[in-house]
Amino acid sequence: MPLLLKIEMLAEGPVSLRGELAVDELQMETLDELIKIGGPLEYDLTAKRAGDNISLQGSMGMHLKCECARCLQPFEYRVELQEWSCLLPLSGEGNIELINASADLTPYLREDTFLSFPQHPLCETGCDESPKAGVDGKPTTLKLDSGNHNEASAWAELDQLNLE
Ligand SMILES: [Zn+2]
Repeated sequence: MPLLLKIEMLAEGPVSLRGELAVDELQMETLDELIKIGGPLEYDLTAKRAGDNISLQGSMGMHLKCECARCLQPFEYRVELQEWSCLLPLSGEGNIELINASADLTPYLREDTFLSFPQHPLCETGCDESPKAGVDGKPTTLKLDSGNHNEASAWAELDQLNLE
């Protein structure tokens, strides 16, 4: 179901719109192969008449399935648009198209959510892991070394405890 708003409903005051737009409804294609749509677009909006416009205000969110641009690990990402707002003119240039006195709000929600997708998805801020290919065993050796150091200092601490 597209998100349709009957214009006449606005005459009686603000209209609360809450629900989700299914993935097939959105016909959204991500250009980035690291990003896939992970769920419906959830919205919680208030629509009201503002002069010759429809004013939309509220929040939207959507789950994405991403792959980290650096380490290629899959991770979940949530796009959140808090305090989103939008003004849709009912007349004049760029006015919203009405079908049976209803406005289809779907494209507006879709577009702004799409613009909030991450540009370079990272599993965590500042991830600088290079892809796991070509590991030659050196990191393992380093880890063993530091492990020995830790053990040694632990014994040293125990020795000190014994002295006291
Ligand atoms: Zn990463």
